[in-house]
Amino acid sequence: MSVLITGGAGFIGSHLAEALLETGEEVWALDDLSTGNLRNILPLFEHPRFHFEEGSVLDAGKVRKVAANCRKIYHLAAVVGVRLVFEKPLETIETNVQGTEIVLKTALQYGCKVLIASTSEVYGKDTRNGDKFRETDDITLATSLRWGYACSKALDEYLARSYAQQKGLPVVIVRFFNTVGPRQSPAYGMVIPRFIRQALTGKPITIYGDGKQVRSFGWVGDVVRSIMQLMAISQSEGQVVNIGNDEPVTIEDLAHKIKAKTESDSQIAHIPYEQAYGPDFEDIRYRVPDIGKLRNMIAYEPTVNLEEILNRTIAFEKQSTA
Ligand code: UDP
Repeated sequence: MSVLITGGAGFIGSHLAEALLETGEEVWALDDLSTGNLRNILPLFEHPRFHFEEGSVLDAGKVRKVAANCRKIYHLAAVVGVRLVFEKPLETIETNVQGTEIVLKTALQYGCKVLIASTSEVYGKDTRNGDKFRETDDITLATSLRWGYACSKALDEYLARSYAQQKGLPVVIVRFFNTVGPRQSPAYGMVIPRFIRQALTGKPITIYGDGKQVRSFGWVGDVVRSIMQLMAISQSEGQVVNIGNDEPVTIEDLAHKIKAKTESDSQIAHIPYEQAYGPDFEDIRYRVPDIGKLRNMIAYEPTVNLEEILNRTIAFEKQSTA
């Protein structure tokens, strides 16, 4: 029996594929290569237990084909990245909602345990004044089209929990917070790879807004380990769990750290949100997860702190642009 990763050529998906292969699993990756990239999984094609199928999660026949011999599905395929989500709200909602429905139906048909990738975006507008986001918090969505993404992922969560409750489907729902590591594309937002590339090429480091907004960044290896461990235990079934790191940093500090670590001559430039994303954009001022639930469930501790995340990502970017 094998494991299916939808979005298997994506940033997190490709790291998950590697990690699952290391544990001896047979891995199927399904990806339509819209934001995923074959380069991410090229080395895996050599592996006898790795299989790739190009296709969309909206193609129910294809999803059934690759899921038929699987006992676990990691459903990571989605439209991602603030920029893309903001530019393509329609594709975002369709892919996220219909895709998840197809995956859940397929999982039920073949008796698979399934992990649904949700996002910290579902916490919605920042009304907490610097509190960490907890799984039991209320959700505050608003009218800007930015929230169509959050809404679609929130619907995925309700859908998955309904399958769990009414049909007994074993599902785990994870809310990914900002994740970083090798191969993350800077094309759709993703502040760390963007700042590092700007610093390494001497271009201005572009802080959007006042730079006082706060994020915390999880290392992709820690993130992948977390979701594999959650899929291995029954206590996670029917649960929603935050995934990430809880070490806060302002975007301004991040820009200065990256400039110093890369010994870059780049200017640090403040760009108004309107210029970066167009009108009608709302940023989240403070986005840090409470990871108490994850800690309790799998005895989790992040193994890579922010300094080391930056060191490793800078080293990767230097080597890949050399
Ligand atoms: N950001 C920035 N400059 C950039 C890209 C992003 O200042 O070139 C900011 C962005 O406005 C946000 C934070 O960095 O406040 C994290 O952005 P990202 O798109 O990585 O993730 P998200 O907004 O989903 O947390």
